[in-house]
Amino acid sequence: MKSKLYVNEIGYRPEDKKIAVYCGKEAVKYTIIKDGTECVSEGVSGEGVYNSTTNDYEIKIDFSDIKECGTYVVKAGEVFSVPFTVAENVYEEVRKSLMRFFFLQRCGVELTKEYGGDYAHKICHNTPARIYGTDMFKEVNGGWHDAGDYGRYIVAAAVTLAALFHAIENDESLLKVDMQIPESGKAMPDILSEIRYELEWMLKMQDEATGKVYHKVTCAGFCDFIMPEYETEELIICPFSLTATADFAACMAMAVKFYEPYDKAFADRMADAAKRAYAVMRSIQVPGGFLNPEGVVTGTYEDKNERDEQYWAAAEMYKAFGDELYKKEFEDYVNQEIMHGYGWEDVGSFGNLAYLSTTYPTDETVSRKLREAMVEKADLLMKKCEANNFDISFDENDFIWGSNMYIAENGSHLFDAYKITGDEKYLEAAKEHIQYIFGKNPCNVCFITGFGTNQVLEPHHRPSAAAKKAMPGMLIGGPDSGLHDPDAIRDCTGLAPAKCYTDKLLSYSTNEVTIYWNSALLMLMAQVL
Ligand SMILES: [Zn+2]
Repeated sequence: MKSKLYVNEIGYRPEDKKIAVYCGKEAVKYTIIKDGTECVSEGVSGEGVYNSTTNDYEIKIDFSDIKECGTYVVKAGEVFSVPFTVAENVYEEVRKSLMRFFFLQRCGVELTKEYGGDYAHKICHNTPARIYGTDMFKEVNGGWHDAGDYGRYIVAAAVTLAALFHAIENDESLLKVDMQIPESGKAMPDILSEIRYELEWMLKMQDEATGKVYHKVTCAGFCDFIMPEYETEELIICPFSLTATADFAACMAMAVKFYEPYDKAFADRMADAAKRAYAVMRSIQVPGGFLNPEGVVTGTYEDKNERDEQYWAAAEMYKAFGDELYKKEFEDYVNQEIMHGYGWEDVGSFGNLAYLSTTYPTDETVSRKLREAMVEKADLLMKKCEANNFDISFDENDFIWGSNMYIAENGSHLFDAYKITGDEKYLEAAKEHIQYIFGKNPCNVCFITGFGTNQVLEPHHRPSAAAKKAMPGMLIGGPDSGLHDPDAIRDCTGLAPAKCYTDKLLSYSTNEVTIYWNSALLMLMAQVL
């Protein structure tokens, strides 16, 4: 049985803050044990504090004074934590694994044993796709499988790449990571080669004639738990959407500067694609936003508010190209409403960052309003951090579908406030969100497959299920108190919100993976680690 003493299972760097959370009400004697025997620190904790997200009393044990490299466990009363490492390079493997996931999600290509390992598969999804409702076919091969399924969706792709670009901007060492992909060793950094694989697919999803962008390409429904080459039903390209076209414009505009030094022609193609998409996006307005056309039941990425996507696009277009029109349009949006969000649905924060970081002239009043709003948002999150024994910015209503993405996203909001104010309290709070994902959480599991002692073993992910082995390096969705699938209902009914998680293959609402969850975590790690 898992102990009720939670630590970051991946480990800590010597200078990191280190906090274990013990589930209990009465003060407890604790010791920190190094290499199995040596007691290097001891003390008596404070008393437990009630936590409405777990319906437990918990005690924080701070052992930040442990700075010597080694393997440790925490003992509180008679309870032991899992062992963990203190080392300078403790996050290198997990970072690389999170990055490599994108390669393993490649569609339209064979993954050989050499590069794909247990997840090698033959070429998949390489037939022309039917444009919905027509007899026309279009070749849109390539890109990454989105999640546990084999669909490919533009809004998901665009925010994934946006987060990855921000990750690179915050931590240039990502450009040096050897991802062990077929392109490794070339002049272009591996991470940019991998991102290009997705960009090339996205470019195919833009209609040549109009510049509009198709929402997604999938089969009509979800397939069984099989390797991708066995999903051979007809591929369907779903209609254009405003959200896809705006996100596409933003993402292409962002990408230009990263590829200019390596492949000017490719960068120019993306610049042209971005401008064409932006120019036409508002003509795609459909009441209520994109919905699945009849007969298609794969993910909709339904989004009733399509303004933030246009807001983001305007800001990125201005940052990339400097045209006064884009500036004016973004500022008009800001003057009506400041928007936030680093997720697939709410993308406003990407726009805020773009405007605040452009080298073209900006309006100081608009910039000040943005900075104030971003700090205000972080302050609301700080209040929640202070009320949660796990130091995360969640109350009992926040454990929703994909909660781990919001954990990462909130960490980035806190980081924004740190950048604006210089106040380290935001930075420290942001870091705790990573500790939570790495194992200091009431589910007592490391939420990244292949890492930690208490591992996720049965992610809702088709290649993992087909290979009978969890693909490493995937951030899984995490607790969802909405109980949106039969396994969650069976295993989590009656549990406190923060514990509504079940490591079951069929629990798509708590145990799935997606490309934009991995990217959100990589962005936060690049910002604060
Ligand atoms: Zn495929």
